[in-house]
Amino acid sequence: MTGHELDLARAEVAATSRELARQGLVLGTAGNVSVRMGDLVALTATGVTLATATADDVTVVDLDGRHRSGLLQPTSELGIHLGVYRDSDATAVVHAHSEAAVALSLVADELPVVHYQQLLLGGKLALVPFAPFGTEELTTATLDALRHTRAAILAHHGTVAVGSSLTQALDNAVLLEWLCRVYLKAASVATPRSMTETHLQAVIEEAVRTGYGQTRPVDPE
Ligand SMILES: [Zn+2]
Repeated sequence: MTGHELDLARAEVAATSRELARQGLVLGTAGNVSVRMGDLVALTATGVTLATATADDVTVVDLDGRHRSGLLQPTSELGIHLGVYRDSDATAVVHAHSEAAVALSLVADELPVVHYQQLLLGGKLALVPFAPFGTEELTTATLDALRHTRAAILAHHGTVAVGSSLTQALDNAVLLEWLCRVYLKAASVATPRSMTETHLQAVIEEAVRTGYGQTRPVDPE
């Protein structure tokens, strides 16, 4: 890893942090963002206001959490970020305190599949039980939830979304927040119906057949 590549990664983590704040998924110093580059992880420092984050607010550690560069201590949720990289092939993590996800955690035990796009996150999302931020208990429970999905809802706390790039992790966080909003809107009127296994299976077959989500060039004339 060259110094230039590290500088670039730190700048990208800062840009993703600002975008997370711009989209209203975090307030003040809440939330954190990281990206893995080989054996190193660039992540937001503790106490940083994400809306105004710069590369100087991003710290670099190794996969065991040992400090490698940057002037500030890493986020208190370091354990979740490192655990994701140890346990999965994800290379980016976004943690938010987004409104609809927190609201949903007050009234539901899970987010059933409300829209077919939820399959991108792995389907139904069970709630991670409450534990104080930064604790081993919260880290273990969150990593357990992420074993089968690309996102998790933390009761009375927020969300964690992972991806194979910072853009994908951010997109997953935004998608999760939208799904929670849809669920809550429906739940305010009546008990929401979740998608059936038959419908989900049909969506998966169609996605495989057509390469859903990929751009495709037009056929040559
Ligand atoms: Zn948090």
